[in-house]
Amino acid sequence: MRQDLTIGQKVVVRRAKARAMALCQLVVQSKDEELGPIVQSLNLRPATSRLNGLRSEFERIGTALSNLNINHVQYDDQEKCFAYVYPTDPTVMVLGNQYFTAERNGVDSVPGVLIHEASHWQIVRGTDDHAYGDDIYTLSSTLMRNNADTIERIAEAFDK
Ligand SMILES: [Zn+2]
Repeated sequence: MRQDLTIGQKVVVRRAKARAMALCQLVVQSKDEELGPIVQSLNLRPATSRLNGLRSEFERIGTALSNLNINHVQYDDQEKCFAYVYPTDPTVMVLGNQYFTAERNGVDSVPGVLIHEASHWQIVRGTDDHAYGDDIYTLSSTLMRNNADTIERIAEAFDK
């Protein structure tokens, strides 16, 4: 059942959201020498146009997360996932039962999941879920580029 976040859950989400927005800023402000190798490690060509495209997506993710009212974030303990969103509605995010046991930083972290979900919103990029985790390395470059976990991995690479 979908329910409002508890006070304790709100503390976790508020912190994760602040960290996610900070990670977005790090990507937006990154130099080519920093972002390029990360993009290349995902089997994508680090052309300047692609790096700039990614930076503007992270700008939009940061804005979308900043606009997301924490009172419109809900928890659904029946959903066996980290979280889900409705691509056309950037005012709502629903966290699943894996969210609060996720890592606080690094890969599959609570800030990273928020970035992953925000990338699904059409106003941001409207990414799909073609593959998760290390399975993303099997994707073609077209699918890799439009995959939410790819966006999440890029952000998490800045989380150190
Ligand atoms: Zn997803």
